[in-house]
Amino acid sequence: MFRHSPWDFVFFAGFCVYAWTRGVYENRTRLNRRQAEATFPGARLLLAFVFVGVAGFPVIYLFTPWFAFADYGLPAWAPWLGTAVMVLALWLFWRSHSDLGLNWSMHLEVRTGHELVTSGVYARVRHPMYAAIWAFSLAQWLLVSNWFAGPAAAACFAPLYFIRTPREERFLRDVFGPAYDAYRQRTGRLVPRFVKAGPGGTSA
Ligand code: SAH
Repeated sequence: MFRHSPWDFVFFAGFCVYAWTRGVYENRTRLNRRQAEATFPGARLLLAFVFVGVAGFPVIYLFTPWFAFADYGLPAWAPWLGTAVMVLALWLFWRSHSDLGLNWSMHLEVRTGHELVTSGVYARVRHPMYAAIWAFSLAQWLLVSNWFAGPAAAACFAPLYFIRTPREERFLRDVFGPAYDAYRQRTGRLVPRFVKAGPGGTSA
């Protein structure tokens, strides 16, 4: 079925767990009603782009010979490291969905009864789910030795991350007011913060 190496199975298994996690929470939250949204031009296109990078390109790589001309060799340690990063990414992806619970949504919105989550993996980091997708993208790069399919997730997630994250933070600030400011002060964007920011300070 796969063209390349046993690492393709590792990547494919990780991809299935990723998609399954999404499916479970998509299903659990599907009846939630939207109360406010902060959509912006291109928002859906950016999501579609992520789908292409995380699913489309790897599927072409795994199941067809079309990208074969762009294969490259990676050092022997790379897929081992990729596997470790994949496990971490999938754990964080599941935990962030689980901690957001009914407040999770694929789109930028708040739903009826939406609460600001500041516990679990959200206690130290504001965007653990995006951190998990970055980690998954890195794992994909390390496991899939192809110039198209390897970096595809990182390349396709970057626009969404950089365009959406500031909008998401402004939106949550509008909805939750000073509570979000205080939360922002004590947390990091993708990794926990170790140095206290001054008033109004931003973070990594
Ligand atoms: N950026 C976050 C969440 C991504 S899911 C992360 O990377 O973990 C996107 C949805 O989560 C948006 O609809 C937004 O309203 C909601 N959201 C983001 N942070 C939240 C928080 N701390 N509490 C409650 N909802 C949050």
